[in-house]
Amino acid sequence: MTQTAPAYRMLIGGKLVDAAERFEVINPATEQAIASVPDASEDDLDAAVLAARQAFPGWSATPIEERRAVLAAIADAIAADAANLARLLTSEQGKPHADAESEVKGMSGYLKGIAALELPVEVVEETDKRRIEVRRVPIGVVGSIAAWNFPLSLAAFKIGPCLLTGNTLVLKPSPFTPLATLRVAELIADVVPAGVLNIISGSDRLGPWLTSHPGIDKISFTGSTATGKRIMESASHSLKRITLELGGNDPAIVLPDVDVAEIAPKLFWSAFGNNGQICVATKRIYVHKDVYEPLRDAIVEYAKTVQVGDGSQQGTQLGPINNRAQYDRVRAIIADSKAQGHDILTGGGDIEGPGFFIPVTIIDNPPEDSRIVREEQFGPVVPLLRFDDVDDAIARANDTAYGLGASVWGGDEDTATAVAERVSAGTVWVNESRNLTPLAPFGGHRQSGIGVEGGREGLMEYTLAKTYFLGKR
Ligand code: NAD
Repeated sequence: MTQTAPAYRMLIGGKLVDAAERFEVINPATEQAIASVPDASEDDLDAAVLAARQAFPGWSATPIEERRAVLAAIADAIAADAANLARLLTSEQGKPHADAESEVKGMSGYLKGIAALELPVEVVEETDKRRIEVRRVPIGVVGSIAAWNFPLSLAAFKIGPCLLTGNTLVLKPSPFTPLATLRVAELIADVVPAGVLNIISGSDRLGPWLTSHPGIDKISFTGSTATGKRIMESASHSLKRITLELGGNDPAIVLPDVDVAEIAPKLFWSAFGNNGQICVATKRIYVHKDVYEPLRDAIVEYAKTVQVGDGSQQGTQLGPINNRAQYDRVRAIIADSKAQGHDILTGGGDIEGPGFFIPVTIIDNPPEDSRIVREEQFGPVVPLLRFDDVDDAIARANDTAYGLGASVWGGDEDTATAVAERVSAGTVWVNESRNLTPLAPFGGHRQSGIGVEGGREGLMEYTLAKTYFLGKR
């Protein structure tokens, strides 16, 4: 009897391989296991790192135009399988199908955007006697670790700059959302030269093995600030380079001259898109007293029209929370608000199971030192906070250990931009939010991260400076 290979295998050294053990992936809308994936052992990780090491000399010497072409071919392979990838993404992550489709499209577009970037040689001196130029060289083998909220977007943020700059990669998706990423592994197995891009899945033990592996030269991590600190410590033993894209507690500041009806839905989606499970979701909404009541009422009315349910069902606008641990965390924050007697404008209750569903919850002007204001909730619960004076709003917005994103909303663009200049964050949006581009750096200030992804600066993170003094005779 012939055995068929299981679906979902890892990509190591150009081959799709299984592991001795596998673990189950849960659909958060049903709490049912939907598939199993390889649980990489230390030997599997060693094999992936070795494959990446062996591929490095050839890949780093490959002309950049050929590397661009490989990235474009990956993007095309993903686009050609978009419907299937989107279905997988909804089933493992929970997001509505339309959101999953736009994530797949975004992955393909981001890779093409990165593929078009340049990293020119910088000439710092040119005289009769000599020329001094700074060239950027790849670092070596990169280990990348992704979170579960945007499995494919985060994979693209890592694959694009890593491969374009001539490094080789070992990529690990979150154990909650490995399916779409392993499907990408299958799609690109024949597209990428063997060993250049390795994709391995594993349970909780795999991340720490990866960050402490002596054969890895750099770690690029997206996830929580708490894990980021552990990774920095682990990477310090061999002085690995690190890029850390971590948590946020993004404020929105709403000025008195806004058009309430126009911005209410925009602010809603800024906070509740992907069920609030976005690093740059708006997590605190500061509203000027002149528009507080009308904006509060408009957002609450809008919230009541939004359909929460299984992302695979037509009409669903918000799916479940991705996993049990995060579901419990968000519910604990809502329970704390209830215990403190905060005024809950909508939501706050339970949705009958199965599935990790939480109703859209909006809290009316809780104290600044409450959990819902101080912590990153990463779920569908948001505080509206009233301010009288813009200086006070800016001070409160900046009073956080985080510094990922922020937005300012106002009728007069110059006034709003002047406020944006005083908010301390890696990205500030004026009258929009959450948009990212492969052309510009994205990263966190303070405890929201170290380094950036995107743009020329994002490419630099995957390189080392090599300075040439070229004497002339
Ligand atoms: P997490 O830190 O729990 O896990 C992220 C990844 O790290 C997973 O793949 C996990 O398996 C791995 N991991 C866990 N412990 C590890 C360890 N000790 N060593 C190595 N790897 C380890 O984060 P999460 O719950 O998956 O994601 C939510 C968080 O991610 C939020 O805080 C969110 O703001 C943040 N996030 C940030 C960005 C950004 O670009 N700044 C983007 C998306 C999400």
